[in-house]
Amino acid sequence: RRHLPKKNALGYNLRQRTRRIIGAASRNDCGKNRAKGRSGGIKDGSIFDKKRTVMEKGLLFVVSAPAGCGKDTILAEFFKKTDKAGYAVSATTRAPREGEINGIHYHFLTRDVFTEKIKLGEVLEYTEYCGNFYGTLKKSVDELILSGKDAVLKIEVEGAMNIKKMFPEACLVFILPPSLETLEKRLRGRGTETEEKIRERTRQAKNELEFAKNYDYLVVNDDLGEAVEDLLAVFRAEKLRKERRAGLLEQIRGEK
Ligand code: 5GP
Repeated sequence: RRHLPKKNALGYNLRQRTRRIIGAASRNDCGKNRAKGRSGGIKDGSIFDKKRTVMEKGLLFVVSAPAGCGKDTILAEFFKKTDKAGYAVSATTRAPREGEINGIHYHFLTRDVFTEKIKLGEVLEYTEYCGNFYGTLKKSVDELILSGKDAVLKIEVEGAMNIKKMFPEACLVFILPPSLETLEKRLRGRGTETEEKIRERTRQAKNELEFAKNYDYLVVNDDLGEAVEDLLAVFRAEKLRKERRAGLLEQIRGEK
């Protein structure tokens, strides 16, 4: 622990955190037996007494959506239109899909390495989703924030709830399909899934929609361009919050 810098980019005490805290964990088995997400770690009050620092230094912009809602496409367009935010690359134990690159789409880890990272306190939140671990690496978030960018976390609903518990000032956006029928049609249109898988994904999407009410913003992906603009609008508005603009008034008044 002594080798760790005392504080990370978000301003919380790394040494303390690795000693006391493992992270926030949840389990999601594709909607069959949804285990309630739990959040470990924030209760001791030691980490986010630096809340102000978190708010001033960078925004945690969490985006979730059921499969088939176009989350990846929307985010790809979002990143083309702003260089102020970066994607916090998650870690996962699932195998890479065709075209996925280690370190860009995910950090692909073995279960042993992933578990070790949890033990070392390197994972901010993690979940077990469809039999694989997925987790937000503190390092991924830190690197973005330190480079002056905001961190976009593309994570599932329970992970998002855990982030909100740990960082109430995080901004949570849920991307919705215009209707469940449209979603089912889109999943079918991909032509890559079996009928059983499509039903399972639609059922899962219904479960995930239950969480939408806990998010700060809802973006409907009916028209791709509009959805991207909506996401950008939310991002820009969040950046203008007075809490994130400490010192601005003093600067304008020439007091700083
Ligand atoms: P996929 O296997 O399709 O890439 O991802 C499955 C689900 O895991 C998606 O909903 C994705 O957003 C979510 N996910 C990806 N990374 C993380 C993470 O770091 N934490 C959590 N909680 N979910 C993640």
